Amino acid sequence: MKIGVLALQGAFIEHEKMLRHLGADPVQVRLPEHLEGLDGLIIPGGESTTIGKLATSYGLIEPLRAFAQQHPTWGTCAGLIFLAKDIGIEDQPILGVMDVKVNRNAFGRQVDSFEVDIPIKGLEGEPFHAVFIRAPLVEAVQADTDVIGTLADGRIVAVRQRHLLGTAFHPELTNDPRFHQLFLDLVAKSNESL
Ligand code: GLN
Repeated sequence: MKIGVLALQGAFIEHEKMLRHLGADPVQVRLPEHLEGLDGLIIPGGESTTIGKLATSYGLIEPLRAFAQQHPTWGTCAGLIFLAKDIGIEDQPILGVMDVKVNRNAFGRQVDSFEVDIPIKGLEGEPFHAVFIRAPLVEAVQADTDVIGTLADGRIVAVRQRHLLGTAFHPELTNDPRFHQLFLDLVAKSNESL
């Protein structure tokens, strides 16, 4: 399986490592033509404003949007912000393909980063060790969106809407490949149904 990893800024190398470990073939995406022939795409964490600016200057916004509308795409942290339809900010370039409302800096500066184990719907075994770094929160979802992970108080941190996956945390910064495997399973299923 050829999985693109948007490689403009942020934690893309860690995603590539995880994908390779699981036997998939990661492809760095920096230009529109790099999207050709990919089975799925991961948009990493980093800084969503920077990712948006760079994607605009490389002519990637439209091609990425078209890709994510049709193919399995997973956004982690800044990647989730980039996928979302509503981030409460008008002039930041985003793809706007996933029907979720995201609060970009929901935890504020006081709680810059934290780690917590959370159960994830669809992942067997122990709760997933989730690493949050200046993380966003999902504040509203549509009826067709599956909330697959929340904090203990119910705040939403992992969602799936059809072929789109979003996590407020960073599974690529752990040694646990289960989340990446979940995404690869989603890609395999979507290939079957084509
Ligand atoms: N708060 C950052 C943003 O707005 C996201 C942080 C991250 O990806 N770790 O893009």
